[in-house]
Amino acid sequence: MPLYTAVKGMNDILPPVSLRWSRMEEDLRLLAARLNYQEIRTPVVESLELFQRGLGETSDVVQKEMYVFEDKNGNKLALKPEGTAGVVRAFIEHSIGIEKPGPHKLFYIGPNFRYEKPQKGRYRQFHQFGLEIFGDPTPEMDAELIYAASLILDHFKVKGEIRVNSIGCPACRPAYRETLVNYFRPKAEELCGDCRRRIDINPLRLIDCKADSPRTRWNDIPVITDHLCPQCASDFDRLKKALEIFHVPFVVDPFIVRGLDYYVKTAFEITADTGGTQNAIAGGGRYDNLVAETGGDATPATGFAIGLERLLSVVPQDFYGAQPLAMGFALYDGGIPALLHLTKHLSHHPVRYMAEYTPRKFKNALQKANKLGARHIFIFGEDEVKNAQVLYKDLATGDQQLFGQHETMTIVSMLMEKEIEK
Ligand code: AMP
Repeated sequence: MPLYTAVKGMNDILPPVSLRWSRMEEDLRLLAARLNYQEIRTPVVESLELFQRGLGETSDVVQKEMYVFEDKNGNKLALKPEGTAGVVRAFIEHSIGIEKPGPHKLFYIGPNFRYEKPQKGRYRQFHQFGLEIFGDPTPEMDAELIYAASLILDHFKVKGEIRVNSIGCPACRPAYRETLVNYFRPKAEELCGDCRRRIDINPLRLIDCKADSPRTRWNDIPVITDHLCPQCASDFDRLKKALEIFHVPFVVDPFIVRGLDYYVKTAFEITADTGGTQNAIAGGGRYDNLVAETGGDATPATGFAIGLERLLSVVPQDFYGAQPLAMGFALYDGGIPALLHLTKHLSHHPVRYMAEYTPRKFKNALQKANKLGARHIFIFGEDEVKNAQVLYKDLATGDQQLFGQHETMTIVSMLMEKEIEK
């Protein structure tokens, strides 16, 4: 047993998996840039009150899952459990919405922390990539956001199901809430302990209870889509029409309520077969009141976040082939200067390469390269040095070839061509 181990539910990301992570993050950044989202980086720590106010005192995240601590000054702080509240705080603090007209399109990528029971796909430190749009009230913008989410799925060749709903607004939700309370109160005895408490404090959460799902036990639970006010109903129709124009396949799921209190109208989730129980890979929706509730000017907003651990678990294994490694060896001391030159020249090109400067016998170099899983080796022996050449060997095919020591470009194109061939 090592003296120190990682904190429960928090994972090290090691090579070669870290390579998949960084390439996935690069792809997400490129996709975001293409759609004109700009990056926002907010601190990992925020004031506790920001989350209590934003996410709602009754949400599971606030009630049970936050990492809360006091700094030496007695300030109550929390590690961020999600990305939106911090982005909203920064949006207000830096007057982003006041300095330029909207829509403001922002993306973030980074870690979040929730004290949940760890299991496959659910961790205490996990990572999210999120898109947020401020300053546009239209359901068409929600549809564009969902379309962006579908582009991410397509890019990574992930088969996901997009489930959309409208969860109403402060005008129509209270009546639906009441209907749910009236429906579940007589059934209280049959509900789990958490749900019994939810009847009074957060009845909407009851219908997506993970422990003992009421939605699979009763088939006449009232659905919000039957209780929308005319404005929400018309916005929901516009959302669906816009999604059809974008050719985004979706299903309406009237039981999507989202865990955090700030959502209004559009709510959506994306599920995929992750091979475990945690098959929700992304979620989001409209949060028109959050900016005002956080102390800013009323600003409509919409956004979503995708969990990167879960996304990566459904990205096909062969999506990112590891680039084959090239290695350089000298067979005697006299080969070292030429080997150093090769290292210097290859370092300017996108090839995966490393050298070893302790001279070894040819057979020994082959063995070492094999052990490290290298495909290409470059050898400087006495003959090569005498003729200003380098011997190249392809360990996958056995082919050998001599190059001039200055033919760096020819060497690089050969390596790149072989990578494409693969
Ligand atoms: P939420 O903010 O709860 O809607 O989460 C959005 C997405 O973040 C989910 O669909 C998951 O992909 C991911 N996620 C949320 N909580 C966790 C967790 N504890 N561990 C791993 N991924 C998570």
